Amino acid sequence: MSVRPTSFWGQAVIVTVRLFCAAAILAQFGFAAEAVAAERTVVVVLFDGFSPAELDAAKATPNFDRLKREGVWSRHLVPAFPTISLINHTTFETGCWPEHHGILSNEFYDPKLGRFGDKMDAGDADWHIGCEAMWQAAERQGVHSAVFNWVGRWSSTRGKLASVISPMTKWKNRESDDRILADAIKLLHDKSPDHPRLIALYFDRPDNIAHYNGVTGAKTQEAVRQVDAITGKLMAALSSLPPGREGTLVVGTDHGMMDVGPMINVGRLMNMYDIRAKQATDGTTAFLYLDKGESAGRLVNVLSGYGYAFRPYVKGQFPSYAHLGNGPRVPDIMLVAKPPYWIVGPEVFPWWANALGVNHFWPPIFTPFAGGLKATHGYDPAIGQMHGIFYMWGAGVKKNYEIPRLDMIDIHPTVMMLLGLQSGKPVDGRPVTSALAP
Ligand SMILES: [Zn+2]
Repeated sequence: MSVRPTSFWGQAVIVTVRLFCAAAILAQFGFAAEAVAAERTVVVVLFDGFSPAELDAAKATPNFDRLKREGVWSRHLVPAFPTISLINHTTFETGCWPEHHGILSNEFYDPKLGRFGDKMDAGDADWHIGCEAMWQAAERQGVHSAVFNWVGRWSSTRGKLASVISPMTKWKNRESDDRILADAIKLLHDKSPDHPRLIALYFDRPDNIAHYNGVTGAKTQEAVRQVDAITGKLMAALSSLPPGREGTLVVGTDHGMMDVGPMINVGRLMNMYDIRAKQATDGTTAFLYLDKGESAGRLVNVLSGYGYAFRPYVKGQFPSYAHLGNGPRVPDIMLVAKPPYWIVGPEVFPWWANALGVNHFWPPIFTPFAGGLKATHGYDPAIGQMHGIFYMWGAGVKKNYEIPRLDMIDIHPTVMMLLGLQSGKPVDGRPVTSALAP
């Protein structure tokens, strides 16, 4: 006996009846088809050293224009002090002040571990003294994450700290921008059940170009347009997610950028005044860890004549904007430059500069004739040029809404709220709820 195949209309009736029954069952239990929320993926991008002035100078930035029109934006993302990279990458990812996550600058000393970054291990999360990166908090709550080129994606004792990380290598050996962009877009289209719902990408532009070309230089403008194109590709990928999924893009930076002038040579100052200390200098700050017997009071005294260029602060009396705490990594004396002055340690000079006596005979403050910076960052976070750009776009955020100001510590809790997860433990920031869709 053969079974007669059901006709098209017969099948349609069966399917309709089944759907009706399913809807009736769902309704009985209080569910409606519309209430099944789309599963959300959040893509978080950090473009290094991206100030509003760089964006304005680049002019043609159609994707950032669209982010502003269709999403949330700010020209005042306020970084942690010193307003430089690694301290703020860590503040961005953890939502903690430096005194709680432990990365106090690009260069500092730990009494047990030695000098931070010396072994190219600045990306090792074992340097953190507390707080969780957003991917650690997400994984702990069962959400897979993928992290590309960010510091803190791996630990030398715990291995990778997210389901997908790239690369599993030292901080400076990063994958190319094209590679991580292609990998991230592939993951956005991944239909497997364990696809990541948090994807974090780090790009070293426009910072690396702006330092040597100035805030409004032609090459800096070009770098910003490249960054705009990267953003456009991620927006397109988020607009074509597999069915049942929705996406949000969060774009931030670690600090702003401003054009600078003469340089402060810490090596020469140490030589001139016979300062007995270890120094760790980067950008606009010098951390001095005094040798036994050296006097903080004496140093403040001899350096007080340079008030036009920098100011020395003694441990325990740092300015209120410095959330560095009083732990063992905090220097005895911190020199803080005032714009347009910037600071370097003796290790940055090539052999020929030292042969010319830069650290022994030259004036401690001068404008370098080669290898100098045109623009930098690191100053007091109250200085507007240190502020960075910030955008959110897509699912769960308002449209055409300006955030007047937010702190770097607020990004982590905002991302976690977009994912429907709790912030890392502990956390100092608060979610920017005013920017989220009701
Ligand atoms: Zn940076």
